[in-house]
Amino acid sequence: MSNKLIITVATTGSITTRENHPELPLHPKEIAQAVYECYQAGAAMAHVHVRDDQGKPSMSMDKFAETVGLIREKCPIIINMTSSGGRGLVLTDEDRIDPIVALKPEMCSLDCGSVNFGDRIFENHPLFLQKLATRARDAGVKPEIECFDASMIENGKRMFKEGFLDGPLHFQFVLGVRGGMPATIENLMFMKSKLPSDATWSVIGVGSGHMPLMVTAMMEGGHVRVGMEDNVFYKKGVLAKTNAQFVERAVRLAGEFDRPVATVEEARKLLGVRAR
Ligand code: ZN
Repeated sequence: MSNKLIITVATTGSITTRENHPELPLHPKEIAQAVYECYQAGAAMAHVHVRDDQGKPSMSMDKFAETVGLIREKCPIIINMTSSGGRGLVLTDEDRIDPIVALKPEMCSLDCGSVNFGDRIFENHPLFLQKLATRARDAGVKPEIECFDASMIENGKRMFKEGFLDGPLHFQFVLGVRGGMPATIENLMFMKSKLPSDATWSVIGVGSGHMPLMVTAMMEGGHVRVGMEDNVFYKKGVLAKTNAQFVERAVRLAGEFDRPVATVEEARKLLGVRAR
């Protein structure tokens, strides 16, 4: 088993605002530039959201096409598009799926259950998940199973058993969201214990759990996600300068834990995804 560490960056997300961080990348050019800087710093994968011209969450096909196109011009980083939509948007299943099918990134998020998320409900109907998984497979896109609590691991495993997902599965644990499981080492270790033996996994600690979970993932054979979608503070009370600053820290830490940072090509091999 490789000990390479995949660093994913999530530069923007759908929740963080310019009030939270004045340098949050919002427009396609800004997002692509931030992703490029993170790629240069050591990130092998970019989890991509887009915003409309007002900076509000969006699932606009045009914005995704522009953003993904600009990223692909700049670097070969693995692209992982969100399927989540965003707060305040009224979306059909197709609004959430069509940009992924059209642009064929290597990966897309598959949130394997519904959860209270801050002050909204993040809804993922079982039939939506089946439709997304089926259409992603047809487009050659590997789903990243996002889990806000342990039940979502079981949903992902069930979808695999029922033939909607191909193995080996890749999980992303999202801990510390208000409404989901708290970002504690105990919770991370519990979730890891529920995974299929051949699965790969990564973790996001939102808020103060960010550092403890990142370090635990490095020690326990997992991978990590960093960036302003999940955290704007570099440490307590200090805003990060850039998304790349989070990547640089992950790279430094990885060096201390005998986890050489995976290149894009190595990450593709670990995840079983092909270059586009
Ligand atoms: Zn996201």
